[in-house]
Amino acid sequence: MTKRIRQPIIAVLGHVDHGKTTLLDRIRRTKVAAKEAGGITQHIGATEVPIDTVRTLAGPLIKLWKGEIKLPGLLFIDTPGHEAFTSLRARGGSLADLAVLIVDINEGFQPQTIESIEILRKNRTPFIVAANKIDRIKGWKVEEDEPFLVNIKKQDQRAQQELETKLWELIGKFYEMGFNANRFDRVQDFTRELAIVPISAKYGIGVPELLVLIAGLSQKYLEQKLKIEVEGPARGTILEVREELGLGTTIDVIIYDGTLRKDDTIVVGGKDKAIVTKIRALLKPKPLDEIRDPRFRFDQVDEVVAAAGIKIAAPGLEEALAGSPVIAARSEEEVERAKEEILSQIQSVVISTGKVGVIVKADTLGSLEALSKELGEKNIPIRKADVGNISKTDVMEALSVKEEEPKYGVVLGFNVKVNEDAEEVANAKGVPIFVGNIIYKLIEDYEAWVKEEEEKKKRELLKNVTFPGVIRLYPDERYVFRRSHPAIVGIEVIEGRIKPGVTLIKQNGQKVGVIKSIKNKNDFVQEAKKGDAVAIAIEGAMVGRHIHPGETLYVDLSKNDVILLAKQLKNELDDTDIKALKMTAKVKAQQDPFWKAV
Ligand code: GDP
Repeated sequence: MTKRIRQPIIAVLGHVDHGKTTLLDRIRRTKVAAKEAGGITQHIGATEVPIDTVRTLAGPLIKLWKGEIKLPGLLFIDTPGHEAFTSLRARGGSLADLAVLIVDINEGFQPQTIESIEILRKNRTPFIVAANKIDRIKGWKVEEDEPFLVNIKKQDQRAQQELETKLWELIGKFYEMGFNANRFDRVQDFTRELAIVPISAKYGIGVPELLVLIAGLSQKYLEQKLKIEVEGPARGTILEVREELGLGTTIDVIIYDGTLRKDDTIVVGGKDKAIVTKIRALLKPKPLDEIRDPRFRFDQVDEVVAAAGIKIAAPGLEEALAGSPVIAARSEEEVERAKEEILSQIQSVVISTGKVGVIVKADTLGSLEALSKELGEKNIPIRKADVGNISKTDVMEALSVKEEEPKYGVVLGFNVKVNEDAEEVANAKGVPIFVGNIIYKLIEDYEAWVKEEEEKKKRELLKNVTFPGVIRLYPDERYVFRRSHPAIVGIEVIEGRIKPGVTLIKQNGQKVGVIKSIKNKNDFVQEAKKGDAVAIAIEGAMVGRHIHPGETLYVDLSKNDVILLAKQLKNELDDTDIKALKMTAKVKAQQDPFWKAV
């Protein structure tokens, strides 16, 4: 078998509008030296920069390399505007061998920047930072496609200083997240320090250094990972499943290992099975200037060697899952092994537990795995996790959960759409749907909602529940302000609390009357607590007949009150409430044994 080092697969990620698309466009158009050096090759879902192009672009920067470069080139995944590619998997690791994290130097860290760093850290994906939009710095002199180290020399003192300040702010942010970062030309040890390349994606400034560094770092640190058996059966990851005019359902795949041949059988992940199918055609994009009829946008090829982006047309791909593995097989045995491997991978992510838990949907297997993991770490149970848009069935399933446990009766969707009929049912039945493209933000939104709901419920309960209270009338007749209609007496709250509206009972359990109002000094109040000396008006009681100075009275409680207090409002009770509850229970127990257990 021939061994060879393949192109590293590079993902560009970062916050929306920080310049991912612009950078990829720039790389695609890397014009300067591209012509003589073999240019750029467009793959399906990816762009390849051959190493000669990188070398030509590097010019004098070649000394940044330190050592021979054996890589054939760099393969950039073209991110179509979303972050899910970060969590694309290959053999349990990340599909991206290396990543470029792009940060708008004027905006600094934003939510998706942080999310990207978290995912890179979790997947242990090495990355370098592109600090973008340096041309926006006041007075910056732009020279297209110039290396940063050349361009910086042309800037006046103030612009240079401003860049320095912004870089330091960025370095500070990385430090807070546990990374030592530095401008790339000041990095001593690339295994310990994160390299920041200041660039202008719009004008191509710094892009030469970015490419050189990516190549150098891949060569130096990823060589073992990039060594492949060229002739071995191919392995890849599905980027996207899509309908193509005249081709039916096709899959866009990044091949990261081996060779894929036109007559290979492939095994790919489907919704609840492994799909085994024969390739009908391997397709790569036709050069733009050769497309005359949009129906014939692709060229057929007989084989493709890793790393490459390719479109596969084959029967039975309708149910294929984005993010799932693709494994080529050339014998029955290999088919069986591939099926097993793929099934076990899918079954660990696409789950239907029947548990009381949330419904989770995501756009790819990788992002679904990342989201589920995150939920697991937060002890949020999952009933169903699946790839695809949010459907009516998902909402109905959440509705059935809602009946058992409202806080889990929700659908969480990452990078997916909500089908129209799903939205209708959700609105009609009050099933909350949370969608977003930042995992931690999505979970935060859900958690905030749960908290809000719990507080709402508690407020509702508190409105309807009676708290225990024990009071004593002052023994002195002077504190009887009025004998009846209503009786007004001075009391002290011995334990617990009282509110207007509660019914009072005597030591023997007999009802006395209802507290109409509470006056503390000169003010009417809504509550009096242990230790408070207040005057209360009692409707329905006459002093001397029903109540007497010096007597102890209790707030009457229902069984329902006790159950609510003990179960759902436990945290609202303090020591004195508990004492009052015990004292009241003793009184009530004379008539009903239920209270003996309180
Ligand atoms: P994405 O959402 O990360 O793909 O960001 P885009 O590449 O779409 O860029 C967002 C906006 O920023 C666009 O209007 C770009 O033209 C602009 N932009 C990107 N890079 C640069 C840059 O280096 N300099 C300037 N001035 N604008 C840029």
